[in-house]
Amino acid sequence: MRIANLAGRATIVTDDGLIDLASSSQGAFSASVDKCLTQLEWIGSWLASAVPAVTDATTPRELLGDARLGPVVTRPQQIFAVGLNYRHHAKEMKLPLPKVPMVFTKFVSSLCGPNAEVPVPSETTDFEAELVVVIGRASRDLDVKDALAAVAGYCVGQDFSERTLQMQGTPAQFSLGKSFRNFTPIGPWLTTADEVVDTTDLGIRCAINGTEYQNSSTADMVFTVAEVVSYLSRVVELRPGDIIFTGSPHGVGQGQTPPVFLRPGDRIVTSIDHLGRIENLAVATERVA
Ligand code: ZN
Repeated sequence: MRIANLAGRATIVTDDGLIDLASSSQGAFSASVDKCLTQLEWIGSWLASAVPAVTDATTPRELLGDARLGPVVTRPQQIFAVGLNYRHHAKEMKLPLPKVPMVFTKFVSSLCGPNAEVPVPSETTDFEAELVVVIGRASRDLDVKDALAAVAGYCVGQDFSERTLQMQGTPAQFSLGKSFRNFTPIGPWLTTADEVVDTTDLGIRCAINGTEYQNSSTADMVFTVAEVVSYLSRVVELRPGDIIFTGSPHGVGQGQTPPVFLRPGDRIVTSIDHLGRIENLAVATERVA
């Protein structure tokens, strides 16, 4: 099942068109994507038994670039991100492989929809394609083998990164440099975990103005999705709607020779097998970084 946030309403995305969840269920389910996250099994059963007609003939492909798409979670209590979680990316950043997941946050106010414009605050703003995990149930102390049961689904994300601010401190504190306005687009929709059978070998890509800079697979991850979820749950309580950025493969701008950083007018397209693609336009802003 795929659920989008279309103009603020939870919307089921099928190959034949869209189903407005609240109106088609006569209010049995909420229009809020956040509320639906804890009801995915019921929604799936209802879809299978009621077989509601599509309310809009827009196809998934036509929906992809729609500016009305919002983030698939609008009010996460926590956003986690994992640094250096792909072997080839650690190498290009000239850093050793982490022995435990290297976790930072992207502050919630940077969250935005899949096709949002991203203001570029500096000459050193970078891109990172990432597989995003959305948590579906409150969890603590998960074993690795049980960890994926806490996952509601997956989507595509961009971990936009202002490298100067990211690396400025001693030691460096990543979070602010990752949290400028619209630095955290996710989407295009949530694909529920039951449809993503294997997260350990998904193709992941990012292109700038049609030139592909990142093209890898989640098979290159240092810590698997299950290991990351388990690791986090041993420290914090994971809550429904929490978001985890699971790290970027190699090919980021800073890893290029010479480095390739974003400029106003650039079009950033990020995609993952089975999950769709998001597209962001870099725009000018007063430079603050
Ligand atoms: Zn990242």
